Amino acid sequence: MPSDLIGAAPGSPVVPGARLVILGKQGAGKGTQAVRLSRHYVVPHIATGDTFRAAIRSGSEFGVIAKRYLDAGELVPDDVVIGVVKERLTHRDASHRGFVLDGFPRTVGQAEALQTILEPSRLDVVINLDVPTAAVLTRLASRRVCSSCGANYSVPDNPPKVPGICDVCGGDVVQRDDDTEAAIQRRLELYERETSPLVSWYSERSLLATIDGTGPLDEVTDRIVDEIDRRKLGAV
Ligand code: AMP
Repeated sequence: MPSDLIGAAPGSPVVPGARLVILGKQGAGKGTQAVRLSRHYVVPHIATGDTFRAAIRSGSEFGVIAKRYLDAGELVPDDVVIGVVKERLTHRDASHRGFVLDGFPRTVGQAEALQTILEPSRLDVVINLDVPTAAVLTRLASRRVCSSCGANYSVPDNPPKVPGICDVCGGDVVQRDDDTEAAIQRRLELYERETSPLVSWYSERSLLATIDGTGPLDEVTDRIVDEIDRRKLGAV
């Protein structure tokens, strides 16, 4: 079993396939948990932030435009992000098996668009990964990312095996350009204003599960997997 799955509901049968959204403040651990969930349920991990960072690395015209938003901690306009996600969800892996959406939706407009894109099917569950703001600020200060493949690391909890070198692809592990104090502050403000209303939006549609995102990574994964399986098996 890959080490990433250790702690993910040991002993319970894995039911592949799921349509998941993971919500949470910047630094709540969405990326790390989304990778684990995508391996557990054998579905693609679709992270809009990773898509934009890849476009920036490629130096494309789209990347140059995206970089202005990312560096300032601003949201990329809804129509652009929705177009990117809509296109990705038409790929066979996502349309047949499902997905873990990480960093999307971030506004009610994006959530409404996602609902329309998925019709006649719907999400299985929206995980709201709950971590206090003080804790996310500490996590963001220690967050590192591979500049080649985008893999996430944390200096104290989940460092690369060789310091500064990505375990996955051997790329350089660095601090994100948008993990500056000003950009972090702006992203947290935008989270409160634009994204936190999604908690009640999804709760009203009986899709929300708030999970305590503090504590060891494996324990957080266990909590999320237990909740998803309960819902997939119709216990909720
Ligand atoms: P993340 O990696 O999820 O923290 O996203 C990094 C940055 O990408 C954000 O600060 C935004 O500038 C942009 N971004 C990612 N996802 C979205 C989205 N759903 N809507 C608008 N902007 C986004």
